[in-house]
Amino acid sequence: MLTHPVFNKRLIARSSVLAACALVALFLVQCSGGGDSAVFVIEPLPYHQDALSPTISAETMGFHYDKHYAGYVKKANELTKGMGFAGKAAEAVIQATAGDASKAAVFNNAAQAWNHAYFFKCLKPDGGGVPEGLLAEMIDSAFGGFVDFKSRFITAAKNQFGSGWVWLVLDEGKLAVVTSANADTPLAHGLIPLFTVDVWEHAYYLDYQNRRVDFVTAVLDNLANWDFVAAQLEKTLPPKA
Ligand code: MN
Repeated sequence: MLTHPVFNKRLIARSSVLAACALVALFLVQCSGGGDSAVFVIEPLPYHQDALSPTISAETMGFHYDKHYAGYVKKANELTKGMGFAGKAAEAVIQATAGDASKAAVFNNAAQAWNHAYFFKCLKPDGGGVPEGLLAEMIDSAFGGFVDFKSRFITAAKNQFGSGWVWLVLDEGKLAVVTSANADTPLAHGLIPLFTVDVWEHAYYLDYQNRRVDFVTAVLDNLANWDFVAAQLEKTLPPKA
C-alpha cells in the first residue's frame, strides 16, 4: 500500500496518542475499582456556598459540603467497593444494609451521603414562607396548621438527644414529624422523606454555637424550599387519570 511518508508519520503519532489514552483510561478504571463504578456521587449544591448567608454562613456551608458531605460520599464508595452494589441506587444500598450490625459502617456513610444531598436540596436562598396547595392542606390536616407543624418540628429538633436529623415524612399517606439519630434515615423505616434539617452540631455550631432551636427556626423561616418539598410529595401520588 502506498502511503505518503508524512501522512504515515501522522498516523503513527495519532495511534500512539490513542494508545496512550487507552492506557490512561484503563488505569483510571483500575483505580476506581476495576469497573465497579462508584454508587455515590457528590451532588452539586443547587446554590452558591454563600447564598444562604446569614442564616447559614459560607464558612459553615464550606465545611458542611466540602468536608462532611464529601467525606461521607468518599467513604461510602470506599466501603461499598466490591459489595456488588455497582449500578444500584444509593437508596438500595441504604435499605440493604439497614439494621445489619456487620454493615453498620456502610449504612452510616451511605445514609449520611443520602441525607446530606437531600438536606441541601430542601434549602434555597429566600426560602421559608408557607407551603401552598396539597402540601399545605396535608399539613393542616395532620398538625392543625402550619404554625403547629413548625412548633412540632422545632420541639422535635430540640428533643433529639445528640446528633441526628428532624424530618417531615409521609407515613402511610399521612404527614408526620420524626427524628432520626446519627446517620439513621426514614428510608430505612419504610417512611418517605419530604423535608429535613440536619441537627448535628457541625450544621450550626459555627453560626449558632449551642442554640439549635434558633438554627432550626431560622432555617424554617428563611431557607425552607417548600416548592421542592411539594414536588417530592407530588411524586408519591398516583398519576392523574
Ligand atoms: Mn451534616
